[in-house]
Amino acid sequence: MNKKSVTDVDVKGKRVLVRCDFNVPMKDGKITDENRIIGALPTIKYLMEQGAKVILCSHMGKPHNVFDEKVKLNKKEKKAVEALPADEQAKATAEYIEKAKKNDPVKLTLKPVADRLNELLGNKVTFAKDVIGPDAEAKVAACKPGECVLLENLRFYAGEEGRDEAFCKKLASYCDVYVNDAFGTAHRSHASTAAIVEYGFVKTAVCGFLIQKELEVMADSLEHRVRPFVAVLGGAKVADKLNVISNLLNKCDTLIIGGGMAYTFLKAKGYEIGKSLVDDEKIGYCKDMMQKAKDMGKELLLPIDTVVAKDFPNPIDAPIDVKTVKVSEIPADMEGLDIGEETRKLFADAIKGAKTVIWNGPMGVFENPTLAKGTIAIAEAMAEAKDATTIIGGGDSAAAVQQLGFADKMTHISTGGGASLELFEGKVLPGIACLNDK
Ligand code: AMP
Repeated sequence: MNKKSVTDVDVKGKRVLVRCDFNVPMKDGKITDENRIIGALPTIKYLMEQGAKVILCSHMGKPHNVFDEKVKLNKKEKKAVEALPADEQAKATAEYIEKAKKNDPVKLTLKPVADRLNELLGNKVTFAKDVIGPDAEAKVAACKPGECVLLENLRFYAGEEGRDEAFCKKLASYCDVYVNDAFGTAHRSHASTAAIVEYGFVKTAVCGFLIQKELEVMADSLEHRVRPFVAVLGGAKVADKLNVISNLLNKCDTLIIGGGMAYTFLKAKGYEIGKSLVDDEKIGYCKDMMQKAKDMGKELLLPIDTVVAKDFPNPIDAPIDVKTVKVSEIPADMEGLDIGEETRKLFADAIKGAKTVIWNGPMGVFENPTLAKGTIAIAEAMAEAKDATTIIGGGDSAAAVQQLGFADKMTHISTGGGASLELFEGKVLPGIACLNDK
């Protein structure tokens, strides 16, 4: 990797602003999965040991910008308001805003993260109740070498996602060195992830250990791939992964496609797919990709059998009657919701023979135990591919691997679903591009 990391700069006695990804899932004020906090520790501990004054910042969830003058409604609320008669809209807007002002600072505060960090770091962390306000200013000024301050949720301010210059300038005034270690948001070009450096407010900008590891494993596997290289893609829609499919075809030897997106490919091949998920507009694209694979001598594996049901499960984990049929025999009134047994074997055999495997997206509606077998089969095959570098590209597949207990059998599980997909697309992530070159 050609970007500087924390070990390439002198941080002793310096104020170091670290953009972390502390966007952890919460329930009733409690953290339900602390993987992202644990993932950030190596960088934080290193900086503390080096005698830096460590200023931590992150976003949490999708708050309204409740610390700003004008709180805006989110997209869903805006739509709900617009659907009301004109004379009711102002009142409904005011109610949503009042609710947001009351709820967001309680539900989306980073205070529980500060408390957990204190447990993990021996009470060396203070929490600032704002970001560009007097509390943060005072606490940053009081921070001593070897100590940390965690700022409140960046997205309580519109300036974070809006890349506001004044917001960036204030953040930059807290630090001598900027460290990005938030891989989960490295594909976002926000104030704290990129603009603060792009505007020139901080000159020394490096990555932390988490980003360094993510890049080393994922980007290097893509660039210096050890063959055979198998890429597995699943998930809901073809439209979400257009560039990923095309870029991975360039790089891999075998591309496996399962999940909801496989049915558009099957339709493009001329099969009747019943009520299965389909992107009709992308049928031409699927044909192009199948032709591209053929022209390049790449193997493109699609399901040969599928688990079907009369309807999509509702709720998603409800018991469901299913049967398995060949992809050429999907009944008109049924919907494909997982890959079948023959397909599981076909895909697993390809994975087991690989030296590099990357995976993004479930093979079926894995949230339902009856429809999780395809996703489990991929996780199992990757766990068994002992000589292979196995990489899970975040999101649902990472959650599935963790739930199924295969996490320690994988070479790398990415902390960023969106960011790893963009790496698989071959894109340069803004949160990394802005950092100092070696
Ligand atoms: P994505 O966010 O694109 O990775 O898609 C993940 C979602 O795709 C999961 O919630 C799955 O339930 C869903 N999914 C996977 N296979 C299917 C399928 N055959 N039909 C409908 N949804 C699916």
